Amino acid sequence: MTDTAPSPDERARAATLIDGARAANERLITSLTDLWDELVASSDGSNADDEHDPEGATIAFERERLTESLARARADLAALDQAAARLADGSYWTCATCGGPIAPARLEARPTARTCIACARRR
Ligand SMILES: [Zn+2]
Repeated sequence: MTDTAPSPDERARAATLIDGARAANERLITSLTDLWDELVASSDGSNADDEHDPEGATIAFERERLTESLARARADLAALDQAAARLADGSYWTCATCGGPIAPARLEARPTARTCIACARRR
């Protein structure tokens, strides 16, 4: 046994970590989608013709912010799905760039990491 091979404990902890992060992310997406629906419903009721309406500008800003948050949350979820797939095929602990091991502490802090710290720094 080498000191880089993940123990069953580490594997189980990684799976728990990814599942937890995915669940949190799905909740975030749900609440952001709810907020979006509310925003669309409230802006439909207002006078959308008046571009100089300060409330219209606020709604436009909120829409933009929500769109960005949603895009980020969906990208995070996709990254977590990929991490789960890597965990399943055994490549989770291997750096995608140099093929070396990724430190377990790094993966615990950042389950979506695909490279070791040295490669991440080089980028
Ligand atoms: Zn590397």
